[in-house]
Amino acid sequence: LLQLFIPLNFLGILYRAIKYALVDMDMLFRLLEQTPEIQDAPDAKPLQLTQAQVQFKNVHFHYQPDRPILHNINFNIPQGHKVAVVGASGAGKSTLARLLFRFYDVTQGSIHINGQDIRTLTTASLRTIMGIVPQDTVLFNDTIYYNIAYADPNADETAIHTAAKIANVHDFIQQLPQGYQTLVGERGLKLSGGEKQRIAIARAILKRPHILIFDEATASLDSKSEQAIQNALNELAHQHTTLVIAHRLSTIIDADEILVMEQGHIVERGTHTQLLTQQGAYAHLWQLQQQERTNSPTENR
Ligand code: ATP
Repeated sequence: LLQLFIPLNFLGILYRAIKYALVDMDMLFRLLEQTPEIQDAPDAKPLQLTQAQVQFKNVHFHYQPDRPILHNINFNIPQGHKVAVVGASGAGKSTLARLLFRFYDVTQGSIHINGQDIRTLTTASLRTIMGIVPQDTVLFNDTIYYNIAYADPNADETAIHTAAKIANVHDFIQQLPQGYQTLVGERGLKLSGGEKQRIAIARAILKRPHILIFDEATASLDSKSEQAIQNALNELAHQHTTLVIAHRLSTIIDADEILVMEQGHIVERGTHTQLLTQQGAYAHLWQLQQQERTNSPTENR
């Protein structure tokens, strides 16, 4: 019986290993699907960075030729400034972030970092200076520690704990029975949208990017999680050039410029105060969100 048990047991181990490997392969393919190949130009050069300044110049973009998505987008984020983009679902906000990260190339116009057209640069040099906190963070099937440390394989424990503290997720991790060694991802502990985003922020903090792209989660968060994320982001945004795709206007009151998008066009721009005075689309959206807050029992503050 023992002779039979050993190979069967071995087969069981093998089966589990293959199954887990397939889950990871599945995740890999899904990631690859979202990131089509952008080839470096034959004479691509590494980015020369003296100022992390971002410029969109007359940018037009479509995913498919018969469906234009962005029309003549112009904006500038000087070093250390924060620009926020707001607008209805499908307006093209996340597409701006994808173009800046060079998941796609613009159809017309150009995007510059420190005065260099990003199409002339090596994508590797471009992406090392950017930290991206996506709307829906995919966590690896591994420990929380690994999921944060991934941003900088040389980081030590103190650096990882510090990043998690700034991201407002350290206390939450510490109170889990296995702390930083807790397994997360599809096979591990299921985290809420807010918790996942704070882990992604910790990852971004550890990377210390010159340019931070923050794509706020659409899922509604309770006020406490929202505030925790907001505080984390403020800490991070201080030292970086930031592009925020925002769904909750309360999170971008302090932005240097807010762009309001409708169907791929920038229809209004200015600071929070300027836009409220204009009494246009932004002011309307602000009033709606304020009413929602007052009417929602969990959002009463
Ligand atoms: P949300 O607030 O819902 O995230 P958004 O303003 O960020 O919306 P985008 O994700 O930029 O909107 O999408 C803009 C438009 O582009 C949408 O109509 C969407 O259907 C389309 N789109 C997005 N990704 C692709 C893609 N990979 N292929 C084709 N069309 C796409």
